[in-house]
Amino acid sequence: MSAAAGSGPHTVAPLQDRFERRGVAASPGVVVGLAHVVDRRRVHVPRRHVSKHEIEGEVKRFRVATRRALEDLEGIKGRLPHGEHRQILKAQQLMLRDPDLVQDVETRIREDGRNAEWAVAQSTDAVCETLSKASDARFRERQFDVTFIAERLLRTLRDEHPGEVAPPAGCLVIAYDLSPADMAQMHDHGVAGLVTEIGGQTSHTAIMARALEIPAVAGVEGLIDQVKTGDLVVVDAVHGVVIVRPTEHEAGVFRGEARRYRAFEDRVQKEHGLLATTEDGFHVALRANVALNEDLESAVFHGAEGVGLYRTEYIYLNRSDPPSEEEHYQIAKSALQRCAPYPVTFRTFDLGSDKPCELFAHAHDEANPAMGLRSLRLALREENHFLAQLRGLLRAALHGPARIMLPLVGSLDELQTGLAMINEARSQLEHARVAHAGEVPTGIMIEVPSAALIADVLVQHVDFMSIGTNDLIQYTLAIDRENDEVNYLYQPLHPAILRLLRMVCEAGVRYDVPVSICGEMAADPLFTWVLMGLGLREFSVNPAAVPVLKNLIRATTMADAERMVREVDKTPTAQGAEAIVLAEMRERFPEHLLHGAGASSATAG
Ligand code: PEP
Ligand code: MG
Repeated sequence: MSAAAGSGPHTVAPLQDRFERRGVAASPGVVVGLAHVVDRRRVHVPRRHVSKHEIEGEVKRFRVATRRALEDLEGIKGRLPHGEHRQILKAQQLMLRDPDLVQDVETRIREDGRNAEWAVAQSTDAVCETLSKASDARFRERQFDVTFIAERLLRTLRDEHPGEVAPPAGCLVIAYDLSPADMAQMHDHGVAGLVTEIGGQTSHTAIMARALEIPAVAGVEGLIDQVKTGDLVVVDAVHGVVIVRPTEHEAGVFRGEARRYRAFEDRVQKEHGLLATTEDGFHVALRANVALNEDLESAVFHGAEGVGLYRTEYIYLNRSDPPSEEEHYQIAKSALQRCAPYPVTFRTFDLGSDKPCELFAHAHDEANPAMGLRSLRLALREENHFLAQLRGLLRAALHGPARIMLPLVGSLDELQTGLAMINEARSQLEHARVAHAGEVPTGIMIEVPSAALIADVLVQHVDFMSIGTNDLIQYTLAIDRENDEVNYLYQPLHPAILRLLRMVCEAGVRYDVPVSICGEMAADPLFTWVLMGLGLREFSVNPAAVPVLKNLIRATTMADAERMVREVDKTPTAQGAEAIVLAEMRERFPEHLLHGAGASSATAG
């Protein structure tokens, strides 16, 4: 293996100097502490040609190493507390078992006469090369998984302990990149913060750091050569800044920031069980967005009133067979039992586009996957899998207040076809005399402008609506939410977005159907007043955002929120709206804003 790339060209400052660099705020928080450098970029790969009689021995070494690596990952997986991490390790196990990879390594040993290490390095380098050219960022990021399994295999082949990282408690880990297995150790060792040279908001380190609630800055180029273990480091993961060897004054200032940040978090978490009721008596329900049952612990811990968005598509990822009706039933049943007495809103599988799934191969190779066979469209094509999921959910609904939500509905026809499928699943259960809940509240996501524009029509056929602003903004403003180049156009306060939100809320009021919001916009305290002022009374957000939003709402009157919306309505531009909202929210909620996705813009200037 050529090992992961080096850190690239950069100006090298003498190691005793102060060094400051900006990266991506991947998991919020502020921390000052001592660095623990983990440089695991290079693994030695012995390369030699083997004679014919050694070949079977090398194949056997490779197979034994693979088995041991799989067992190691299984052990690590068992020590992890949260859901998404386990998925990532599971994905790595699947890669280790991948028949194409296994065959490619064995062919290189048998036909090219390479030793096992050399064959593994060549095969995994080839996979990384292919992945690095993928147009989809999520595919490109998979190459880091391949690098990690290659490293693990190579160290196992060399009988080295594969990369146990043992940082002292309370330190700041500085690394080129960290694998999910490393992250398990971060959690075990009580690491206080993380900085990596590569990665961004969607990298595994970022995803896992957020779930573990460890402050992290990613994508800090050239860092690792500038810091040594024991250096004092500031990690400002609110603004995405890292300072190595800060001045005494700076260290003092940031220690103060860190204390304030933690004190605020502790304060709002203490009140997590209180309801979000405004000073003038309006209750706003705060529910959680989850991907797997393991995430429910965090939802309950942070005081969520049930689940407003269960992204069931995660059940379909990283596996070779689609989930059965029974599996859907068991997962949904245990989610409902864990959240009782609150509801759990199961969104039927939203696969395709940015969540490609090997199980449904015909969705691949689309020129424009975001506009293609994704989400409900795919479910209607994959009728049998869709019915299996619906039957599982209808059965599970016997065990608690379940709700079924159809994603990416674009027209009344599509909605009626989706509802007909739910009826069909119900009849199948009745026919087979299987116990089920009968009627289950059914709703839709409003994620496509066409759905928002005809919300007054769609609403008459459903029990609730939930606005998915991530896609609604992407489709309304024609900006790919994954594309950094057009990120600056991602404007939740664009007047077109506000008009659509208002139309959906008004349709809900007119027909007395509840409307919620579950896109990332809902989790940002910057937008809370605007959303409440537009009429939203139910928010679904990542679990860690729940206590902050509850606290903000309790310090608010609905009259304040409505007044802000009237002000915003006077301006025809997103910039104008942002200026109004920023000025007031920064004045009223400076601490809350530090905990939102828009923290940097909210606090800048
Ligand atoms: C959305 O589009 O806002 C949403 C919540 O769905 P997802 O982010 O899973 O596409
Ligand atoms: Mg969506």
